Amino acid sequence: MGVRTLLFDLRTAGLTVSEDGGQLLVTPRSRLSDDMRAMIKANRDALLAELRLPDALPLPLPWSGHEIALFGARVTLFINRGQSPADAEALAERCCDRDRDCSGLRFCLECSELGGGHCGSWRAAGYLRREAVLSTTPQRCPGFALAPPLARVEGETGGHP
Ligand code: SF4
Repeated sequence: MGVRTLLFDLRTAGLTVSEDGGQLLVTPRSRLSDDMRAMIKANRDALLAELRLPDALPLPLPWSGHEIALFGARVTLFINRGQSPADAEALAERCCDRDRDCSGLRFCLECSELGGGHCGSWRAAGYLRREAVLSTTPQRCPGFALAPPLARVEGETGGHP
């Protein structure tokens, strides 16, 4: 049993699990079964570590002006390239996350070489013939060139978050 499951089970059983001065407190003790006591004893350090975790993950950083401008340009481009508005927004958000983690991965939908669902630079991209491309799969492509509407935003906003 994982420590989170143990903590959940103890709380579900009506027990309060807390830390006091480095000591693990489980109350009321009258509700503790022998099995519970054994599990708590075996997982004492892990329970203390779990209790010390912050309640919530840190909030993500707000988007910069550059990221907002890029988001808008990407949504427009992706819709013009056949995505539904909802899919275009979801993909533009993925692009923002991708930019922040500096993975260098790109979507064909961001590429100037994408036309009619096919890659116009298939040799450079490593294909043996002109292929239809999976435009929403992130990849590292040697044929990639940023689509002009996105390149314009990069130029206007300095290209930095
Ligand atoms: S060059 Fe690469 S990224 Fe651009 S459309 Fe072709 S396969 Fe996609």
